[in-house]
Amino acid sequence: MVRPISAIINTAALKNNLKIIKNIAFKSKVWSVLKSDAYGHGIKNIYPFINSNSDGFAVLTLDEAIILRKNGCNKPILLLEGFFDKKELYLIYKYYLTITLHSNWQLKTLIKYKSQYPINIYIKINSGMNRLGFPTKKILKIIYIIKNNINFSKISLMTHFSDTTINSNFIKKQINNIKKHINNYYNFPCSFANSAAILWHKDTHYDWVRTGIILYGASPTGIWEDIAKKKIKPVMTLKSKIISIQKIYPGQIIGYNCKYYSNKKRKIGIIACGYADGYPRNINNETFVSVKGIKAKILGDISMDMIAIDLLNIPTAQIGNSVELWGDNIKIDDVAKSANTIGYELMCSLSKRVPRILK
Ligand SMILES: *Cc1c(COP(=O)(O)O)cnc(C)c1O
Repeated sequence: MVRPISAIINTAALKNNLKIIKNIAFKSKVWSVLKSDAYGHGIKNIYPFINSNSDGFAVLTLDEAIILRKNGCNKPILLLEGFFDKKELYLIYKYYLTITLHSNWQLKTLIKYKSQYPINIYIKINSGMNRLGFPTKKILKIIYIIKNNINFSKISLMTHFSDTTINSNFIKKQINNIKKHINNYYNFPCSFANSAAILWHKDTHYDWVRTGIILYGASPTGIWEDIAKKKIKPVMTLKSKIISIQKIYPGQIIGYNCKYYSNKKRKIGIIACGYADGYPRNINNETFVSVKGIKAKILGDISMDMIAIDLLNIPTAQIGNSVELWGDNIKIDDVAKSANTIGYELMCSLSKRVPRILK
């Protein structure tokens, strides 16, 4: 028998989310962000269903870009951090990849290892996040250097926002910082907005938006309620089955280190899912799964391969019943919140041993 855990990828939800994003950012082109193996969903699973409605794809690694090209993608592909080593340039030229240029060392490398073909460049502006990019004051100079030293086809401007919140003042600060120093920035195509800015800061959309987390149906803030009204739907359902049922009596414990002590008679379900599948071990003690559409509480510590749940309120539950760990009923944002993290991390940490199944 095959271990019953799987991540169901709801392709209708995926297409729905992209449509919603396009409606919100109707003036802009869309980079669909497929980094980290499409946020854990599998780049090859996701790509065919968003190809026609995406204007381009943004990835982190050269490997991800090449997977897309080899699967027939002929749309622009943006490397979100450009290249990490000069050895990558040959393949970047070969596969017509658009690069992000964020540092002087990259600029020098591009000048030294000139391209035979004109290359598309996104200049990353550090408008205040202080992670990657050139200071706003330097951008006009960088453009001048590129124009005089590099075989380029198009220059675009890109920045990334620090705030993922609904009411952000810092996004305005970052935009003003750009406006102040790059007076003619609107002569270049601009790509500034991530998911949070797409939803809540429409004046940041410009020419290209970059959508990640909302494409996959979770909230940029980590709080599902913030996006619940947008009709965005969860794409991934992590599900498994009950593989054992235990009856325990008052005074008995469940799992490692007697972490859960029962003061009454209980029916316990053991699920084939554990932290080795990517389910977070540090959840609080108010975390639920869904069985037959009814919420069941997780009891005791998460094991490597198993989770115990309370079936007290679901007397008809039996071995073989399906269990949703996250999806439409149990929002990944809620599990993430319980584990002090965000949906992004849970999606990306879903382990390789969990088969992804397209629905
Ligand atoms: C990951 C990433 C995005 C997408 O962010 P979301 O919050 O998932 O929409 C956009 N831009 C850059 C540079 C990124 O690294």
